[in-house]
Amino acid sequence: MTAQQLHNEAFVLDSHCDTPSRILEGRNMSVRNRDGHVDFPRMKEGGVDASFFAIYTSNFLENDECTRKAFQMIASVYDAIDDNYGEVALAKTVNDARNLKAKGVSAVFLGMENGAPFQRDLRLLRLFYRLGIRYVTLTHAGNNEICDSCAAVEKKWGGVSPFGREVISEMNRLGMIVDVSHISDDSFYDVLKYSRAPVVATHSCCRALANHPRNMTDRMIKDLAAVGGVIQINFYPAFLNDSYAEKFWPLCDAFDAAETDFKKNPGDSAVRSSYEKAKKEMEALKRPSYKVIIDHVEHAVNIAGPEHVGLGSDFDGIETCPEGLEDISRMEMLTEEMFSRGFSEHDIKLILGENFLRVFSEVENLAIK
Ligand SMILES: [Zn+2]
Repeated sequence: MTAQQLHNEAFVLDSHCDTPSRILEGRNMSVRNRDGHVDFPRMKEGGVDASFFAIYTSNFLENDECTRKAFQMIASVYDAIDDNYGEVALAKTVNDARNLKAKGVSAVFLGMENGAPFQRDLRLLRLFYRLGIRYVTLTHAGNNEICDSCAAVEKKWGGVSPFGREVISEMNRLGMIVDVSHISDDSFYDVLKYSRAPVVATHSCCRALANHPRNMTDRMIKDLAAVGGVIQINFYPAFLNDSYAEKFWPLCDAFDAAETDFKKNPGDSAVRSSYEKAKKEMEALKRPSYKVIIDHVEHAVNIAGPEHVGLGSDFDGIETCPEGLEDISRMEMLTEEMFSRGFSEHDIKLILGENFLRVFSEVENLAIK
């Protein structure tokens, strides 16, 4: 079998992209866009059978603003899917996704990144489940009501909060996957203690290869695997390679500040030109090759086994992509790289999607109907 045949035959799943934020900003998902990383034509071109679209809200928003934004984002994703009837469909179960692949229809799953939109109200969590949300990344770049973030200098709870324990148990009961990306190391260990079902890191890399708190230590990866979970490797160059990251972060901070200014004053030509300059400088930095993603995959496979590793791009949420993997249409490059490194066909299929689907099925089966 060639790498291409294998890629077509396998169930290819991307467990995290931030595309709903782009849809809300007005991206037309029905056409092939020049910018950004994901739209439906490029998803098809990349042979991606299912993508988790993350309903992301910032930790800086007020509660009601978070909730409203989450509903608006879900509604926009529904509209984009409706506009592509027959080509794309919303999936809520593993069976849905497999049936859609058999019909050649792309599956969109919904995840939620940061549990802030359901506030401190489990009824809202249940409502989001009904709307199709199938995983929740417990928090993002700040501590919230559920748990501490890896990004917060000062932690609030020392792990998962008492309300967070209720959230995890309700998610287990409903059949929602707990996502441990973005949470603090202490929160991670609390999640392993409290969750009845296996959990997933939907977009995280290996800290042994790139020393960032968003990445997981070897110990964490082994412990995640021991409960049956999966680490889905993130494509963000700054999480993949330390020497790139060192030069990238200051450029990225400058870009973020210029972008914020530009969004506030889109008509100001001086603001526009400093935004364009910051963007150019950030993009001029030489990016690591996409092959580094497979270095992380290989490392995780070596310590945890091929049954516990997958792919979670973070497309449309990252400012830069690895060289050679500029958007979702290029996903097959990863299959080729694993193939040329001598991964077995069986293991490649596990990594491309079967591992994630296995955990998802277990979570579905452990739900209390
Ligand atoms: Zn994220």
